[in-house]
Amino acid sequence: MQIVRTVAALREAVAALRADGGRVALVPTMGALHAGHLALVAEGGARGPHVVVSIFVNPTQFGPNEDFDAYPRREAADARLLEDAGVAILWAPAVEEMYPQGFATSITVAGITEGLDGAARPGHFDGVATVVNKLFAQVRPDVALFGEKDYQQLAVIRRMAADLDTGVEIVGVPTQRDDDGLALSSRNAYLQPEERQAARALPRALGEAAAAIAAGGDVAQALEVARGRLTDAGFAPIDYVLLCDAATLEPLSRADRPARLLAAARMGRTRLIDNLEVPAA
Ligand code: AMP
Repeated sequence: MQIVRTVAALREAVAALRADGGRVALVPTMGALHAGHLALVAEGGARGPHVVVSIFVNPTQFGPNEDFDAYPRREAADARLLEDAGVAILWAPAVEEMYPQGFATSITVAGITEGLDGAARPGHFDGVATVVNKLFAQVRPDVALFGEKDYQQLAVIRRMAADLDTGVEIVGVPTQRDDDGLALSSRNAYLQPEERQAARALPRALGEAAAAIAAGGDVAQALEVARGRLTDAGFAPIDYVLLCDAATLEPLSRADRPARLLAAARMGRTRLIDNLEVPAA
């Protein structure tokens, strides 16, 4: 596996891969890799076969009071995992390489970014859309893989990729979970042991609400019960627990179309998000 840190070196390395034939798959990450990221890499290998993984903790998608400085950085361990997974190129630019002096462009995807995490984290999706667009321009992949764990992000990227004629196929990969149901996340490392125990309430509350709604139960009531479960487990504040249209992410009061149940809440200093599919009742 080649580790590259400049756009020029990246272009050369990708050109060499392409000379070999076969498609190039890109997996964008912020590092501190876990089995969720590796599921994206495996899917990329199946669709590639060449896989490029980026590790870049993107400052522009963090708010001023968020965890940019504290975000876990473990590049050496990540590189070993990626090498073992058969990744061809690790693209790990410094902030100055990604955003050189004078950088002045930002991409805003309207509508779908406005609710949920877009409301809770102003500017977050501009940072995501801009950096992913740059990654597409740098790597020029055939296909790029994103986790359903960040469901709104996946929807935003799909919108942007289509709107900007990127020609990149966007593939969503199901959420990988620990044995007790908690979605794998680099931020789980922030959880104290007792917080980690209590955090199981998040997938449980969503699972219970999704089942109640799928069985024809009242949506508002199911969401209220889920919020109560989260509060009882020690989550505070709860940013949202909402049923949304699976494609547009508009909030729904009835599950009369393909829908997604999404939640974000804080456990101690750790903000966790999760989501589940809800089939039409
Ligand atoms: P991150 O490093 O958190 O920016 O995540 C990089 C990519 O991995 C994103 O597309 C995430 O949605 C995806 N991802 C993170 N956690 C999981 C998970 N538990 N299951 C599947 N994909 C995930």
